[in-house]
Amino acid sequence: MDTDPIMKLSVNPSKHINSNLNKAISKSRPMSSDLFALASKIFPGGVNSPARAMKHLPYPFYVKSAEGPYLITEDGERLIDYCMGFGPLILGHGHPIIRRAVEEALNRGWLYGVPTRAEIEEAQKIMSHIKSIEMIRFVSTGTEATMNAVRLARGFTGRKLIIKFEGNFHGSHDYVLVKAGSGAATWGTPTSAGIPEEVARLTIVLPYNDIDALGRVMREKGNEVAAIIMEPVAANYGLIPPREGFIQEARRLTQEYGALLILDEVVTGFRVGLEGAQGMFNIVPDLTTLGKVIGGGFPIGAFGGSREIMQLISPLGPVYNAGTFNAHPISMVAGLATINELEKGEAYAIANEASRRISESLVDIGSRLGIGVTVNRVASMFQFYFTDKPVETTNDVARSNEKMYLKVHAEALKRGVYLAPSQFEVNFTSATHTKEIVDETIRILEEAIKASKT
Ligand SMILES: *Cc1c(COP(=O)(O)O)cnc(C)c1O
Repeated sequence: MDTDPIMKLSVNPSKHINSNLNKAISKSRPMSSDLFALASKIFPGGVNSPARAMKHLPYPFYVKSAEGPYLITEDGERLIDYCMGFGPLILGHGHPIIRRAVEEALNRGWLYGVPTRAEIEEAQKIMSHIKSIEMIRFVSTGTEATMNAVRLARGFTGRKLIIKFEGNFHGSHDYVLVKAGSGAATWGTPTSAGIPEEVARLTIVLPYNDIDALGRVMREKGNEVAAIIMEPVAANYGLIPPREGFIQEARRLTQEYGALLILDEVVTGFRVGLEGAQGMFNIVPDLTTLGKVIGGGFPIGAFGGSREIMQLISPLGPVYNAGTFNAHPISMVAGLATINELEKGEAYAIANEASRRISESLVDIGSRLGIGVTVNRVASMFQFYFTDKPVETTNDVARSNEKMYLKVHAEALKRGVYLAPSQFEVNFTSATHTKEIVDETIRILEEAIKASKT
């Protein structure tokens, strides 16, 4: 290891230890500790995305490789992964079918700046499942997808206001980074500095799952609203399923007032099923945003909807969108290979069963140990909370015992299970989380919860 060139630059890691929650971890991961010390001088907070900095640990662990359900750390540990790249990897790490598709594509070069056959195939595949999409545009991230969908909604309606919901995360751009979830919630900065008041004022933020509040605001401002943008299942403030009738009411009100409904399915699209959450809840949105799973682990985003609306996108129409990496050939083939595999059904069956078994076990462990545990689950996504009460709103999440969650997280990590690294993220299972992996996980989670009980 002393031949590693990076390590020659390393500094004393001890002064970077900002938490004593788990000293044992700091001792057991010397390589990660050194790498983070170095990274802290180079990157703000030592990371390139806030969700990767684990606030309850002295430093994050560094990954060397990954396969199936496992991450292999720079310190030589093998961890069962429930983060799965924050959602995209529904087939698991290093899936051979995706690897083959990507390797074949690499042999043909990888960036042309002109259209490819692969982008048509990927689009047709997506549209064969998500019927509300008649035309689509590929971009590189979910952030770009929602940014362009909002711009398009404003271009189409000629209106300025948008409505979003507290704790819903739509990426990191100015239109939507107001009371957002995910890393922003974890770090207590739900509304970013640097967003002009004039911009923030155009975004009305309402509580998720509050049908009355939505109705009230639409009655007052509905004629000025360009779009309601929402996560059909909130998966960036822990996991909060929609209340019965909530999405339906958003659909009804947008139609009544001539606004558009944007379903942000960046995380739910092709994760909860081939037709996404809109298929699950039988909703036809005006615009859909996609990302994550449709790129098979490579950078991707997409937005699409009816022809009438999408024809406003440049060069056909006046609403501008462009990107060097739009419809990147590698992301296209990786996404297509992923969806082809998902169509067989087996991947969903395994991932959903893993998520179901772990969720039920957590409740069971809680009741045996006399600890209140609530678990929310939708398909292959779940999150658990230390509380006796149901978790249906962002306030319910905030009222649960976050400290206990983080303790359990650290204890599980010591024992080889990597859970979602924040109470405000969600756990994802994959087609590689087989019965044996789940058995081992449940055993470790019980130990971790016992060790965290004080
Ligand atoms: C992850 C996510 C985004 C942002 O996607 P990026 O590719 O990280 O920019 C947007 N919306 C939702 C619902 C997400 O989960």
